Amino acid sequence: NDERKGSKRCAVIGGSGFLGRHLVEKLLDRGYSVSLFDIRQSYELPGVTFHQGDLCDKQALLSALKDVSLVFHCASPAPSSDDRLLFERVNIQGTQTVIQACLDAGVQKLVLTSSASVVFEGTDVKNGKEDLPYAKKPIDYYTQTKIEQEKLVLEACNKPKGFLTVAIRPHGIFGPRDPQLVPTLVDAARRGKMKFIIGDGTNLVDFTYVENVVHGHILAAEHLRADSPICGKPYHITNDEPIRF
Ligand code: NAD
Repeated sequence: NDERKGSKRCAVIGGSGFLGRHLVEKLLDRGYSVSLFDIRQSYELPGVTFHQGDLCDKQALLSALKDVSLVFHCASPAPSSDDRLLFERVNIQGTQTVIQACLDAGVQKLVLTSSASVVFEGTDVKNGKEDLPYAKKPIDYYTQTKIEQEKLVLEACNKPKGFLTVAIRPHGIFGPRDPQLVPTLVDAARRGKMKFIIGDGTNLVDFTYVENVVHGHILAAEHLRADSPICGKPYHITNDEPIRF
């Protein structure tokens, strides 16, 4: 039961990253204590215990998951690395290791940060719902492994075993400390590379404010119960209308 297992103790795998740190800060605000697992440490905060390790290493994970009932998995190699073997090792095999470590440690809930690109076939999607099929031709290796990762996590949902899972699918995340999206755009503009339009200028792209992504993760975690319809399901998360780009 949640009380006995300490329902206010959770783990954030990838908690040193852009999204992970925002998630950790919000969880602390909400009275959680956080076990942070990452290959690198980027900050320190009261209420956070840092565990350095690679998520492909089950023993290292197990020490971070001790007495934890809820796990957020928001670690991934950077999409820009385009390193197929690294994506496969971390996003596919590593996620299998995360699931196994959760089961061994008696974790009850796992919330995965997936990506909206898992349903993107290269053509505009407007008002896309979660019943869209996975992309048959994913746009890159990163997306291909995000699809496999999401399937693994959602298929691991097992009510009789008391292990519940859910996935949140954001697209381009922006907000304070964003290391990628806005800095890349600003850099391209500075170098005079924003003078070209790919397509006819009406392409759609979706951006989500980091606090909304965090909110979606915490709502999912707090509503994940055996009698909830969200068990084993993915959810797109966005601000509102897609922005014309
Ligand atoms: P980020 O690079 O800032 O954070 C990822 C974190 O994962 C880093 O701290 C990194 O050290 C850690 N990590 C990488 N490999 C690891 C390993 N083997 N073991 C342990 N930790 C490891 O990235 P982010 O933008 O915060 O992305 C977080 C999640 O959100 C990822 O799963 C990403 O696929 C997903 N996502 C991000 C965006 C976006 O626009 N940023 C959009 C859609 C989905």
